[in-house]
Amino acid sequence: PASAMKGSSANMKVIVRVRPMSKRETENNSRVIVEAVDEKMVVFDPKKEEEDFFFHGSKQKGRDMLKKQNKNTQYLFDRVFGPEASNEDVFEGSTKNIVTSVLDGYNCSVFVYGATGAGKTFTMLGSQDNPGITFRTMVNLFTQMDAQKDEKTFEIGVSYLEVYNETVKDLLNPSSGALFLREDGAGVAVAGLKMERIVDPDHMFKLLENGNRNRSQHPTDSNAESSRSHAVFQVFIKMKTKANGQTKVVKLSMIDLAGSERGAATGCTGARFKEGSNINKSLLALGNCINALADGLRHIPYRDSKLTRLLKDSLGGNCQTVMIANLSPAHQTYEDTQNTLKYATRAKTI
Ligand code: ADP
Ligand code: MG
Repeated sequence: PASAMKGSSANMKVIVRVRPMSKRETENNSRVIVEAVDEKMVVFDPKKEEEDFFFHGSKQKGRDMLKKQNKNTQYLFDRVFGPEASNEDVFEGSTKNIVTSVLDGYNCSVFVYGATGAGKTFTMLGSQDNPGITFRTMVNLFTQMDAQKDEKTFEIGVSYLEVYNETVKDLLNPSSGALFLREDGAGVAVAGLKMERIVDPDHMFKLLENGNRNRSQHPTDSNAESSRSHAVFQVFIKMKTKANGQTKVVKLSMIDLAGSERGAATGCTGARFKEGSNINKSLLALGNCINALADGLRHIPYRDSKLTRLLKDSLGGNCQTVMIANLSPAHQTYEDTQNTLKYATRAKTI
């Protein structure tokens, strides 16, 4: 039923992935501030054994007294992946099951959330040699469709857009300029958005790669590869049951969110700062929708940003949502990591 806003935790899976230290972080003797303890738990700002010296009085007390206590906070999630996990492992433990829900007729969405450099694009897109979860999910989708081909016919179309500075741009057709959103029954349609029919996952991977070259990327002080845009990849599946001719269209959305770091932390000023605040607007709106869903509220503020308007029919209700929170293990991003863990913890209550 359309009115069923279930708000049960079964609808949102929250997964945390901690990437390995980069070469540079290792060379800089970075401290590990988040550890994947087991399949469910991460410890933020873990306490190290040597600090116990303080309690044994074997160190200069004055100095150690000034030292900040490690937080040593435990966080539990549906699934936790450490630095050794491959994209294959992450796929197996995150989006593999979502394909079944999609083919059962439910709109589904997958997000990667986290600060710039935390591993969102690595997780979502990966590379040709080591594809990310989007490619792997599509391979699985094609396999499952093939298994049902006696009962159903399928047509697949994909679109790829970005929300940048609260403007929607078609990544498969960048010359089309800013696109507008139009209310369309339960959801929102993007006027003029290109829908590409695809026949296999390799075709899709090429599209994704081309689309990524059209993304708005602006180097900021904190990371030259920083991406300030939300990339929204959507798969539309039209399925027809042969026996009765019934047709249904379902949608799977996979979203590589903009970096969640604060504008202030990246030294943004002027035009950059406006960008920052607009990105915060979409991320903030997503956070508010997640909060409202988590609280089981009737009013979900989807209208507050382009991103949440786009995802109105793919979040909450009977939709299956997977959020992957990406984390860097290094101390340089201490605050971002803590903020990501808090955001992810909030999402867990949906
Ligand atoms: P984001 O999209 O969140 O800004 P990226 O996915 O671009 O971050 O990752 C930042 C850097 O770290 C890239 O060079 C990427 O190849 C590397 N990286 C990220 N995650 C992993 C991982 N799990 N294993 C190895 N390298 C990774
Ligand atoms: Mg990225």
